[in-house]
Amino acid sequence: MGHRITIGSIAGIEVRIHRSWVLIALLIGWSFWNRFVVIGYAPTPAVVMAVIGAALFFFSVLVHEFAHALEAQPRGVEVSGITLFLFGGVTEMSSDIRRPRDEFALTAIGPFSSLVLAAIFGLVAFYSAQVGLELVAQVAGLLGWINLALGVFNLLPGAPLDGGRILRALVWWVTGDRQRAVRFAARTGQLLAALIVSFGIVQLLFVPAAAIGGIWLIVIGGFLAFAAQSEIAQQAIDERLGGLTVGELLHRDELVTLTADTDVATAVEQLRVGPEGTLAITRDGRTAGVLLLEDVAKLPADQRAGRPVAEVMLPVEELPSVDGGAEITEALREMAGGRPLAVTADEEGGKRIEGVVTPEQLERVVRRSLQLGEEQAPAASGTRPDDAGHLPQAGG
Ligand SMILES: [Zn+2]
Repeated sequence: MGHRITIGSIAGIEVRIHRSWVLIALLIGWSFWNRFVVIGYAPTPAVVMAVIGAALFFFSVLVHEFAHALEAQPRGVEVSGITLFLFGGVTEMSSDIRRPRDEFALTAIGPFSSLVLAAIFGLVAFYSAQVGLELVAQVAGLLGWINLALGVFNLLPGAPLDGGRILRALVWWVTGDRQRAVRFAARTGQLLAALIVSFGIVQLLFVPAAAIGGIWLIVIGGFLAFAAQSEIAQQAIDERLGGLTVGELLHRDELVTLTADTDVATAVEQLRVGPEGTLAITRDGRTAGVLLLEDVAKLPADQRAGRPVAEVMLPVEELPSVDGGAEITEALREMAGGRPLAVTADEEGGKRIEGVVTPEQLERVVRRSLQLGEEQAPAASGTRPDDAGHLPQAGG
């Protein structure tokens, strides 16, 4: 997700805000304000309560996402951060969830925490009304309803909503087949999205007073349909690439290699006709870096001759790295900004660089696997409950 800023980090988990969040914050603040004005408050206290209410809404979404994150970490699922955006929050996790019960627990805790918050705000509203704290009762009451809605909506059974992931964990547990579970939950997600959009259209056409709500339902349903569709596409890629590791790709499809003292002019000839826009550079028989076409292109032609490639190459230490035993799908996720990946292997006392793979190499494998996929035997879909999963996780 682009256009987001990091606002801080809690318990080692980065909290980021996508710019679309501003829209929902304003919308929530405005509906709080509107409600307080409607029930007879002067505009100024209404603004104060709206700001407090919006801040507590922000807090509520964070609690939901942190519940996912804190449940994921001890189960060996890496959490890279939490991002708040237009439709709520996302906890960004690595996809290596090993057991259905881990997926169940780390997912269910999110809506559960929203329901607990709903109960807490409800109690606060009830008791503050009893003792005459009308303002507190109003704000807490609204937040109680919002958290109840967050909890219930997220429990709807279609991926990528939490309810869909709970369903996925259950299907995975019963069938032992993660890929099948992923497909099933994504299909129910599509069905759910279609229902939400239909409700939105009906509301927009036949209930003029709730037209805005109808538009909002159509937008949410559209977002869910899009997300469910990308889960299906991702699953198809994962299934067809099944089992192929980065190490295998590295050894079957090696890059053209030059030594570090080769002159840039010679490298240019290789880049012009070679199969990739990247060359592997070695020093003393070890991978030292990569020479990217774009870096060479920046160098004026008259400065190429006589200059060793070592001066222009990107040192291997500056590349993101991936273990040679990792599956291709993991490499696809690690590949940031179209840079090549360093492939590492375990060695006594540390890691050794085995070589590099480029985005072009990965792209080629994905494209061919998709073309060949239809012929694959159904047995290849894999029925290993211990198999690491492959889907990016997004908690609603
Ligand atoms: Zn969630």
